[in-house]
Amino acid sequence: MLSILAPKDRSGPINPFVLANYRVRTASFVMAFAIFSAQWWGKHASPLVWGLLLLQFFVYPHLMFWRAQRAAYSLDAELKNLLVDSFFLGLWCAGAGLPVWVTFAFFSAALMNVAFYRNLVGALQATLFFVAGVLVWTAFGHFQFEPDTDVLTTGLCIVGLLVYLMIVTSAAYQRSINLRDTRRELRHSDQSLHKVNADLQDQLAENQKLQAQLLEHANRDPLTGLYNRRYLDSTMAREFAFAKREDQALWLMLIDIDYFKKINDTYGHQAGDEVLKILAHLLHSQARAEDVVCRFGGEEFLLLLPAMSQSVALARAEQWRQAFADTVVDYGGFQIHATLSIGMADYPLHGLTQKDLIGNADRALYRAKSEGRNRVVVYNADMI
Ligand code: GH3
Ligand code: MG
Ligand code: MG
Repeated sequence: MLSILAPKDRSGPINPFVLANYRVRTASFVMAFAIFSAQWWGKHASPLVWGLLLLQFFVYPHLMFWRAQRAAYSLDAELKNLLVDSFFLGLWCAGAGLPVWVTFAFFSAALMNVAFYRNLVGALQATLFFVAGVLVWTAFGHFQFEPDTDVLTTGLCIVGLLVYLMIVTSAAYQRSINLRDTRRELRHSDQSLHKVNADLQDQLAENQKLQAQLLEHANRDPLTGLYNRRYLDSTMAREFAFAKREDQALWLMLIDIDYFKKINDTYGHQAGDEVLKILAHLLHSQARAEDVVCRFGGEEFLLLLPAMSQSVALARAEQWRQAFADTVVDYGGFQIHATLSIGMADYPLHGLTQKDLIGNADRALYRAKSEGRNRVVVYNADMI
C-alpha cells in the first residue's frame, strides 16, 4: 500500500493539492527539524540520529513528492504520503521521549492534514499511523519517557504550530475562493453554452428550412410552378404501389396544347409562356389535393388521379378541356385562344406498369390529335 515504486504511467498535470502539500511539507519540516534539534540539543545525540533527522526533514519531503508525481492517481498517492508522515512523526516523537509540546504539535498537525481531505475517517487513520510510529519505536528503540520541554522547544512548538495552522487555513481559504470562482465560471459557461445551443438550434431550423426550400425548388418547374419530371419519377412508383395495395384505380392523363408552335410563331415565345402558365393554373386550381399535376415537358402536362371511376375521370378531363377552350389569354394586346387534346389510360385496366400506362395514354393522345384535336380520348386496345 505504501510502496515507494509507483506505476510509471502518470496521467495529466500534477494535482494542485499535491503541489500545495509538497510546499507545506517542505517548509514545515524545516520547522520540525528545528523543534527536534532544540529537544535533542545538549543530550549528546549520536551522529546517526542527526543524520536520520536530516534525511527525514530535508530529503524525505522531496522523495514523497516524487512518489506522488509518478503515481497514476497522484492525489491518492499524496493521501497515503500524509499517513506515512503521521507514522514518522509518531516515531520521532517517541524517539524524543514523547515531550508534551512536541508530541501535541506534531500529532495535531498530522491529524488535521489528513482530516482536511478525509474528514473524521482521515483523522482516525492519521491517529492510527501516528500511534503505529510510537509503537514501532517503543518496540525497537530504547524508549525513555521525557514529557518535559524546555522554553526554547515550547516556543518553537507554539510558533511552528501557529505557522502551520496559518498555512493550512490560508490553503483552505484559497481553496474556497477557487471553488467560488470555478462555480462562477461554470455558471457563466453554462449560460454561454445555453446561448450557443439556442443559436445552433436556430441555425439547424434555418438549415432545415433552406433544405426543404431547395428540395421544393428542385421538384418544381420554374415557369409554371407545377411539379417537374424529376418529382414525377419519384412519386409515380409510390402512387402505383398505393393503387396496387389499396386495389384502386389510377388515372393517368397526358394533356397537350394544340398547335402550340403556331401560338409561339404568331404571338411570340413569351406569349406562349403566358399560355402555359394559364393552363398550369387552371389544371392546378381544379385538381384535388391527392392529384399529382406535373409539367411533363414543353407544352405537355401529365396528371395522376388516384381512386377515380372512368366516368368521373372523363368528366374532369372534359371540364379542363372546355374551361381551357373558353379561356382567352390577353397578352401584348392580343387575345389568344387555344385548345387541348387529352389522352387517358387507367391502371390496372390499360396498363400494369408505369411505362405501359404512359405509352397507352400517349397513344390515346395521338388518337385525339388525329381525330381533329380539342378532344378527350380514353385508351382502348385497338389503338396501336
Ligand atoms: P400539336 O397540336 O400536334 O401538338 O402541335 P404543336 O405545335 O403543339 O406541336 P409541337 O410539339 O410540334 O410543338 C410544341 C412546341 O412547344 C415546340 C416548342 O418550341 C414549344 N415549346 C416547348 N417548350 C416551350 C416553352 O417553355 N415555352 C414556349 N413558349 N414554347 C415552348
Ligand atoms: Mg407536344
Ligand atoms: Mg402540342
